[in-house]
Amino acid sequence: MKTVTIAHHEVPALGIGTWEMGDKPEIRTEEIAAIRAGLDAGLRVIDTAEMYGNGRSEKLVGEAIKTYQRSNIFLISKVLPSNASAEHMRRSLENSLKRLQTDYLDLYLYHWRGAIPLEETIAELQSLQDEGLIHAWGVSNFDLADMEELWQLPSGRNCAANEDLYNLETRGIEYSLLPWQREKQVPLIAYSPLGRGAKMGSTMMKNQAVLQIAEQHHATAYQILLAWVMQQPDVLAIPKSSSSEHLLSNVKALEIELTQEDLQTLDQAYPKPDHKEPLAIY
Ligand code: NAP
Repeated sequence: MKTVTIAHHEVPALGIGTWEMGDKPEIRTEEIAAIRAGLDAGLRVIDTAEMYGNGRSEKLVGEAIKTYQRSNIFLISKVLPSNASAEHMRRSLENSLKRLQTDYLDLYLYHWRGAIPLEETIAELQSLQDEGLIHAWGVSNFDLADMEELWQLPSGRNCAANEDLYNLETRGIEYSLLPWQREKQVPLIAYSPLGRGAKMGSTMMKNQAVLQIAEQHHATAYQILLAWVMQQPDVLAIPKSSSSEHLLSNVKALEIELTQEDLQTLDQAYPKPDHKEPLAIY
C-alpha cells in the first residue's frame, strides 16, 4: 500500500474528501456508511472544512468517526479566509471541533488566501498548535509565490502541507510548485483528484489512453486516475465519494503500480506543463 508521511504520521496515500457531503438528508446514512467503509478498509485521512455546507460536512464526519479510536484517524479541517485572524480563528476552530466531536485536529489548513495579513494568520495557527488544539497546520490553494512568502515568515517553515487542485488533466503545479515542495519536504494534498467526476463534467475517465491502461491493469478508469496522482512521491489524494461501493473501489488504487510505459502513454494524452501556469482552483 502506498503511504505518505504528513505531520510525522505515515498514512495511506489515499484519504477521504467530504466536500458536499452532509448536504442531502436523504443520503446521510449512506454517506456515513461510505466514510466508515473507507476507514474499515484502512484509510486514515479525512478532509473537511468549516465552509463545506456551513459545517454540515464536519457534522457528518463527527458522526461517522465517533465510534472509532480517534488516534487512528488523521483529521483535517480548514479555516475560511474571513475567519483567519487573531480575533476569529480560535472561535472557528472551537466550532469545528464541536461539530467533529473531538478535542483536536491533526491538521488545520488556511483554506485560501484572503485579506488578513499572512503573518497574522500564521502566528495564530502556530499559537493554536503550541496549545495542542491542532497538532499541525498547513495551507491550501497556495502557489509558489505564496509558499515563498510563507517561507520568510516566523514559523512559516512549520507548514505541514499544501492542499491544491491536482489531477491528470490539471498538471500545472508540476512545473515549479511541486518540485519546490519536494525540495522543502512539504507534502501535497491533491484535491479533486478525479476532476470532480464525470457527473461534474470531467472527461478523463472516458479518455482512450486511460481506458486502455485500465484494461491492462484489470482496473477501472477511476482507479487509474487515482493511481496516477499517487505515483508522485509525497502526494496524498483525497477523492470524495458518497457511495461505499465507489469508495472501496477507489481504495484498490493504492495497490496499482503504473509502469514507465503507462506513464509515458498518459503524458502523451495529457502533457506535462512546459511553462508556469496560473494556479488552478475551485
Ligand atoms: P473529486 O474527488 O475529484 O470527485 C468527486 C466525484 O467523483 C463525485 O461526484 C463522486 O461521486 C465521483 N466518484 C468518486 N469515486 C468514484 C468512482 N469510483 N466511480 C464513479 N464516480 C466516483 O472531487 P472533489 O470532491 O472536488 O475533491 C475531493 C475532495 O478534495 C473534496 O471532497 C474536498 O474534501 C477536497 N477539496 C478541497 C478544496 C480546497 O480548496 N482545499 C477544493 C475542492 C475539493 P459519488 O459521490 O457518487 O461517488
